[in-house]
Amino acid sequence: MLTREQLAQLGEHLRGTCKQIGAAVEELEMGDDVDETRLEADLLEVDTELCVQCGWWHEVSELQYSEQEGGGLCEQCCDELGVEFQ
Ligand SMILES: [Zn+2]
Repeated sequence: MLTREQLAQLGEHLRGTCKQIGAAVEELEMGDDVDETRLEADLLEVDTELCVQCGWWHEVSELQYSEQEGGGLCEQCCDELGVEFQ
């Protein structure tokens, strides 16, 4: 279980990359017993979200929710999929 501060640090570390959560946690030496699914949800609270299409981390506001894709899409993926980006 990470503190809010660690979570923010983790989010910062992930944004702009396509790293696995577990790998990032390891790089930051925040422990090796992490629940990635849980962390992925927690990361939303520190403005960090995964684009479901390309797997890169973005700020939540940078993603467009797509019902069809079942998650947030970055602008580039919206372009590729022909989804309107607002
Ligand atoms: Zn994308």
